Formats: sequence, structure tokens, C-alpha cells
Amino acid sequence: MAVRFGPAGVPIQCKESSSIGGVRCCAELGLKAMEIEFSHGVRMSEDYAKEIKPVAEELDVSLSSHAPYYVNLCSAEKSTAKSSVKRIVHSAKLTSLTGGNITVFHPGYYQKHTPEEAYQAAKKALVEIQEELRENKIGIRLGAETVGKKSAFGGLEENIRLAQELEMVEPCIDFAHLLARGDFNIKTENDYRMIFGMLEKELGDYVQRFHCHFSEIEYSEKGERNHLPLGTRHEPPFKPFAKVLAENGYSGTVIIESPRLDFDALLLKSEYEKIKGEN
Ligand SMILES: [Zn+2]
Repeated sequence: MAVRFGPAGVPIQCKESSSIGGVRCCAELGLKAMEIEFSHGVRMSEDYAKEIKPVAEELDVSLSSHAPYYVNLCSAEKSTAKSSVKRIVHSAKLTSLTGGNITVFHPGYYQKHTPEEAYQAAKKALVEIQEELRENKIGIRLGAETVGKKSAFGGLEENIRLAQELEMVEPCIDFAHLLARGDFNIKTENDYRMIFGMLEKELGDYVQRFHCHFSEIEYSEKGERNHLPLGTRHEPPFKPFAKVLAENGYSGTVIIESPRLDFDALLLKSEYEKIKGEN
């Protein structure tokens, strides 16, 4: 068991733009994971999703997906909540056909809700999603991503609570978002250790199959603005992250969301392997 690194989407270095081309390219580059981006809409056919599966299995590239951005499980508007449920179910179904193991989503926005009301609304929608996936015999994890804006629902503690109360839900830790939202100061190895320690305490063996997003980030008082390449300002810093991953024997997947996708995935991977080799 170890950590897999991969890009959010088809690698930049890949000549093809298809998902199958992306999987092949990841394997050639030595990257063992790829996140399929449904962020701007789910446009993949079921037949195509089924074609991806044997390729990814043969090349040992593990797959995940990112559900559409226009999702708000906390919405007071029934039609919005309903379409959000539908989008996540659709993403999860296709991801499971590709052999993927987790669909990441942004839970929603507080809007006029108190944090507790937003939590209950998100939970109710997720119960519906779980039921629909079970009825269709779709086995997958639902990754509640830690969000980057103060106006958005989905802080680390909120997502951990969802994971504790809902069987299919687990958090997807976006470290840049944790920093940008002002929830965590992420500068040193100890800051990363504290976050993993919290995950281990609350969710046990989740640290043996964690799913996270990594990049650097530009942010304001309201939260995230842009994802930045690794090494730009070291916010959050990648070297101590690689060190904590390598030294603690955690297993899981790190998806790189910086503008340099696969290049930065390879950079982080080589840092991680360098430290592993020293131990
Ligand atoms: Zn995301």
C-alpha cells in the first residue's frame, strides 16, 4: 500500500484529450491515478465509461471523478436540491462503470441557513443519493470535498460528521481549500500531522484509503481565488506534505488540481519517493 498521485483530468502532456487516452498517458508517465472531470457537466456515455474500465485495470490507474460544480445540496429551493441529487447520482453511476472508486462533490452553500440547517439539508439529500445508488446496486464512495469559500458549506468538521453519519460518504481533503477558507494554518509538517491525526481519530482506517486534492492557492478574506502551481508561494507547502505522507505509511490518492496537473503530480511523487527511499 502506498500513495497514488495523479492529475485532475487528462494530463497536459497527453496528445489525446479522451479519458482513455488520459489513462494510458498517466500509466506512461508513472502516475497511478486520474480524476475524471465532470465539473462542467456529465457528458460521458455509459458505453464509453464501460470501455475505460479494462484499460484502467490493466494499467493499474485508479479512477475517481469530480461531480459538476453546479450542485447545492443545502438549497432551500426544491428544484435545485433535486437537480443536485440527480447530478451526483449520474456522476457516481458513470464513475462506477469506469471501475472508479469515489465521486467527489462540493456539498453546497449556507445561503440563509444556519450551519446546522445547512448540515441537515445536505444530509437529507445525501441519504436520498445513497438510497438511489443502493437501489441501482452502484457501489461507490461519495467524497464530500472540503470547500474553499467561507460562504460554502463543507468545512473539514462538517464533512467528517457527514462521513460518520452516512455509510457511503467520506471526506475529500482539499488542503488548499482548508487554508483559503481560513480554517487551518498549513505551513509545517506538524500542521499536516494534525489534520491526518484528526482524520485518524474521527474516521479510523480512512487514512489507509484517503482521497485528497492538492495544489497551491491564491485567496482573499472570502476564501479561494485561484489554484496555483506547486512551488509558487508554498501556500500550502508541498515538501512537508510529501514528508508526512511518506513517514506515516498512509495510503490513498492525491489528485493534483494545480494548473500544471501531471507535471506537479510528478513533482510531488518524486519528493514523496525521495523521502521514502531515505527511510
Ligand atoms: Zn472540487
